[in-house]
Amino acid sequence: AYLDRIGEVDGDINAFLHVDREATLAQARAVDERRAAGEELGPLAGVPIAHKDVFTTEDMPTTAASKILEGWLPPYDATVTARLREAGLVILGKTNMDEFAMGSSTENSAYGVTRNPWDTSRIPGGSSGGSSAAVAAFEAPLATGTDTGGSIRQPAAVCGLVGAKPTYGSSSRYGLIAFASSLDTPGPFARDVLDAALLHEAFSGHDPRDSTSIDAPVPPVVDAARRADVAGLRIGVVKQFAGEGYQPGVLQRFQESVELLESLGAKVVEVSCPSFDTALAAYYLIAPSEASSNLARFDAMRYGLRVGDDGTRSAEEVMALTRAQGFGPEVKRRIILGTYALSSGYYDAYYGSAQQVRTLIKRDFEAAFANVDVLVSPTTPTTAFPLGERSDDPMAMYLADLCTIPTNLAGNAALSVPCGLAPEDGLPVGLQIMAPALADDRTYRVGAAVE
Ligand code: GLN
Repeated sequence: AYLDRIGEVDGDINAFLHVDREATLAQARAVDERRAAGEELGPLAGVPIAHKDVFTTEDMPTTAASKILEGWLPPYDATVTARLREAGLVILGKTNMDEFAMGSSTENSAYGVTRNPWDTSRIPGGSSGGSSAAVAAFEAPLATGTDTGGSIRQPAAVCGLVGAKPTYGSSSRYGLIAFASSLDTPGPFARDVLDAALLHEAFSGHDPRDSTSIDAPVPPVVDAARRADVAGLRIGVVKQFAGEGYQPGVLQRFQESVELLESLGAKVVEVSCPSFDTALAAYYLIAPSEASSNLARFDAMRYGLRVGDDGTRSAEEVMALTRAQGFGPEVKRRIILGTYALSSGYYDAYYGSAQQVRTLIKRDFEAAFANVDVLVSPTTPTTAFPLGERSDDPMAMYLADLCTIPTNLAGNAALSVPCGLAPEDGLPVGLQIMAPALADDRTYRVGAAVE
């Protein structure tokens, strides 16, 4: 049924970069056989899933939506994809995204834009916009994404879905094509909180193949989603995430969610996190710096595209030609920004200061969590904006991540849950719930109470 649905609507939505009907059906039959052979499979066995095209899959091309990886077939599975196969989930295909996960609208894909199923003239969010659009358009019940600066929570919010950014290090980066390694976090998309929790639990946990993986038990997110009560919980409203630049309908639905939580027995207080105002600036130094280093591996020799290798050019010329043609404009912008920020003479002023700001943000969270169990805010300042509206204005685009980025810099857990439609445009609004590292279960508990 999901394959049929993809056939019907994906011409309009463009959520998928790769679908192979026969391969999917063969996977489904293999799960039936495992079950028939008496294998104990988990609660998601047989459930179809779409993977963001940034996770390697050994039987499907993986492009990170870049021309530079066109035609590359990975020799191995990412831990996230491998664990979900093991759990019996059936892969429907690979989803569109901003190239190398750089963006907030999926307009930076080398393979065309993805459209928001709520209004196809609008963006589905990004960078995991193919995944959010696929679930919102009923093309998949579940999807994976990655959240480096909001790329799961923001597309979930603007597509009316649940999306979670797990604690950094609790979901494996092995086989995830790297953007900013100290921030990249795989996470789930689903239509409700319990489904998201089941998926979260299925791929999380320690992985010796990821050097930053945390060796700790997965927080009890499924139990928390079932519990769904907030009585006695202390909830902090982040003062900094309101005011100028926020759409009135977004603030209205946010305010109503806070009142709902209060009526359910939570204690609500206002909390000030002054360093959050500088998070965006710090992120746009740290993330491009790490990207400039990570993307050095696309050298025309190791993967995918190779341009001008006709025997007349040096390796260096082939490399330059390939990178010039293989990377899109946003990726080049990040590489240039990052290289500049890391160069000697500028390193302390830019990268060094950004790291100091990162520590201040972490301290703001620590101070807040000394008094409250979770923090809440709108997930995004506005609902889904029209396609093209911000594509020529990087600063306006970056503002979509205003509320999500502090969590990435601190490495905490956060979740976005739908909290109604904005009255002025009828589009979904997301409530963001933030918790300390390894307290992901709290975000699910509050999310389930709100939905
Ligand atoms: N929009 C942000 C960026 O462009 C975040 C991306 C992400 O989380 N992958 O960097």
